[in-house]
Amino acid sequence: MLQPGLMMDLPLMLSSIIEHAAAQYGDIEVVARETHGPLFRYTYADCAVRARKLANALAGLGLEPGQAVGSIAWNNHRHLEAYYAVSGSGMVMHTCNPRLHPQQLIYIINHAEDRVVLFDATFAPLVKGIAAHCPQVRHWVCLSEAVHMPAIEGVANVVAYEDLIAPHSAQFAWPQFDERSAAALCYTSGTTGNPKGAMYSHRAIVLNAITICSANALGMSTKQTILPVVPMFHINAWCIPYAAPIAGTKLVLPGPKLDGASLYELMESERVTVSAGVPTIWQGMIAHVEQHGLQFSTMRVTATGGSAMPQSLIAKFSDNYNVEVRHGWGMTETTAVATMGSLEGKHTDWTPAQKHALIARQGKSVFGVEIKVVDENGATLPRDGASQGELMVRGHWIMRQYYKAETSPLVDGWFPTGDIATIDAEGVMQIRDRTKDVIKTGGEWISSIDLESAAVAHPAVAMAAVIGVKHPKWDERPLLFVVRKPGQTVEKEEILAFLSERVAKWWVPDDVVFLDALPVGGTGKVQKGDLRKQYGGVFS
Ligand code: ADP
Repeated sequence: MLQPGLMMDLPLMLSSIIEHAAAQYGDIEVVARETHGPLFRYTYADCAVRARKLANALAGLGLEPGQAVGSIAWNNHRHLEAYYAVSGSGMVMHTCNPRLHPQQLIYIINHAEDRVVLFDATFAPLVKGIAAHCPQVRHWVCLSEAVHMPAIEGVANVVAYEDLIAPHSAQFAWPQFDERSAAALCYTSGTTGNPKGAMYSHRAIVLNAITICSANALGMSTKQTILPVVPMFHINAWCIPYAAPIAGTKLVLPGPKLDGASLYELMESERVTVSAGVPTIWQGMIAHVEQHGLQFSTMRVTATGGSAMPQSLIAKFSDNYNVEVRHGWGMTETTAVATMGSLEGKHTDWTPAQKHALIARQGKSVFGVEIKVVDENGATLPRDGASQGELMVRGHWIMRQYYKAETSPLVDGWFPTGDIATIDAEGVMQIRDRTKDVIKTGGEWISSIDLESAAVAHPAVAMAAVIGVKHPKWDERPLLFVVRKPGQTVEKEEILAFLSERVAKWWVPDDVVFLDALPVGGTGKVQKGDLRKQYGGVFS
């Protein structure tokens, strides 16, 4: 017969994270780029004080546990305070992606029933456009001092954050409740149909945050300084705003300035050692450092995910700049990181090329998450690095049902991701494509990700995307889109010749379209749907 464990049963609460940081790492800094430009600087102890003041202010507005507070905001210190004040009070922190179409923003704010929306001044025009369509929102709070708050004509109940919290006490008794209660809510981008909400629990976030502190993940400690470029408005900035205070890691928040030059400058001035961002951000940053002949003085690890990081970019970071890339995979439905690729002790003697090829894959599931790939009948495929099928995931921070949905998407307790992947004998997973992007040609599959990675390895190519275009004989054939680097004149023949040396002959795209830019969506990913709409006709 089982024996009961004799440990205390304290719930895992987000409020305990900021109180832990205030008490143990009270002097560790948080540095944030204000929306109006300058850098703001304070400590975890100050952050906790202001989070408590905001918690009192929200209670003063009549909000109650279970109600939602929206945010349309950059990565900055007020957003961080809201992360703790809202969830810590038992309310739901609903982070909205400002790059969603306004109709979708209206949809998610109404669907989540946000009572208050916090927004950065950048998004004042957006708020002006949507406020009339969000009748349940009682207060719009501009994350600034009154002096930096833009006038928003026609919207009632707009208040500056600093005015809202100023009169309130810095004492707040965080409620203790079931750790399975909702803490935060994030909607998928809704590329097909309306966005769907993933509702994260305190337990899921705390467990994920502890996990990503570990050495094989982001390796966070008091010796590190972390700059999350990944947005706090999407997938909880990979839970870094929770993990950093757990580990006593200095946190640097870039606000609205996400271009290569601004990020580089911030990394240097704040002596950042670890960062996290999508590949498009790293492409911009490398372009900047290459152009100006710069080096990173302190940056040693950068985590990437959200879309596949091309091997050529991994090689540049590692070989030219001595920055180790960690390649993670996750999705809105997985709270944050679910798998992470990093170099292990046994790889020390590998050649650089071997190491880069390993990191170009998305790594092993972190403890707390399990993965498998299945065929179209749901049968588990072997872990042989070759059998590809749909990636299924389960674990402590994987969603089981969308918010307000009647049914669960789970299949035998596993979440179907819509990604096509392989897993090798050591457990290393590789995303080959999304089910909706994979190119089916003559009964075989072509991985658009592999083709794109091969194309961006060409020195004149800045960005590349591949879609499947209908073909009368082969069903579909790949069409490649290329954005040239500034000043480059590379033409179709050269690109195709370059690719034919790197991929199977039948993978070589049927045509190349040169564009000035690729359509990039709210989370920094190429919007292949837009490309398909415009170019997805028929090859003759
Ligand atoms: P959306 O892209 O629809 O807004 P998410 O932001 O939740 O949704 O993105 C999740 C998807 O992003 C995954 O299902 C996967 O297709 C893709 N993705 C995430 N990380 C990686 C990665 N490291 N490599 C390739 N694809 C990735």
